[in-house]
Amino acid sequence: MIVNSADAYEIHTIKWNTHGDISKNKILYKNIPKSTLTTKIIKESKKGTVILKFGNKKGKKTLIVAGVHGNELSSQVAAFKLVNKLKTNEKKLKGIVYVIPVLVPKSTQNSQRFFKGYNLNKVANKKGSVTYELIKKIKKYKIDAVGDFHCSRPGGVPGKDVALGTYSPCKKSGEMAIAISKMTRLSYINEKYAAVSYPGALEDNLNLNMIPAVTCEVKTPHGTIAKGSVSKSYNMMIAFLKFNKQWS
Ligand SMILES: [Zn+2]
Repeated sequence: MIVNSADAYEIHTIKWNTHGDISKNKILYKNIPKSTLTTKIIKESKKGTVILKFGNKKGKKTLIVAGVHGNELSSQVAAFKLVNKLKTNEKKLKGIVYVIPVLVPKSTQNSQRFFKGYNLNKVANKKGSVTYELIKKIKKYKIDAVGDFHCSRPGGVPGKDVALGTYSPCKKSGEMAIAISKMTRLSYINEKYAAVSYPGALEDNLNLNMIPAVTCEVKTPHGTIAKGSVSKSYNMMIAFLKFNKQWS
């Protein structure tokens, strides 16, 4: 663990055997903002999954995660934009925001969708998977809400810019998806019950645990960055924070 003395934020590195050199992903690297914080994240990612913690005031505790799929670059670039923004605006922030810009540096390094043969958004209910372990951490940190940021390829499912949630058992998930949709003027789709259509999805398994979660997708081909997709993903992240009254 590194606690940065000059700033209030903290960087923690989780050793999930997920480490990789994300600077080797040329498209990602070209698009992320260059800063001392970015350099630190890249360096720490060589040891594992980096989680950043911003803020220490009263309020909610939330988590924004990107890179569940390593080949979805726009949402990961947006997360780099977000952490650089939060670092310089930490005083403005209410509560605590955790950000994992790259869940699996090794997958992102090679722009790979699968990690060790698994689609991590299908195995959050399988003991030992990275997403299963992440849910354990989320419970341990007592996080109040989670935003999971993805990219959907044209012609894929859902294949559009959309906030996804569920109404049951965790009503707040559906409310969050609607609010993000309204704020960003992008669409939303709410499932009736969690884990019916997507039994192993991170969002669904958080909702089953009564931790309200949304999946936010932006349309772009995998392994590359469609024009405007980073901004859309970033705007959805800000909308997520606004819904949780952490950002105004
Ligand atoms: Zn995805």
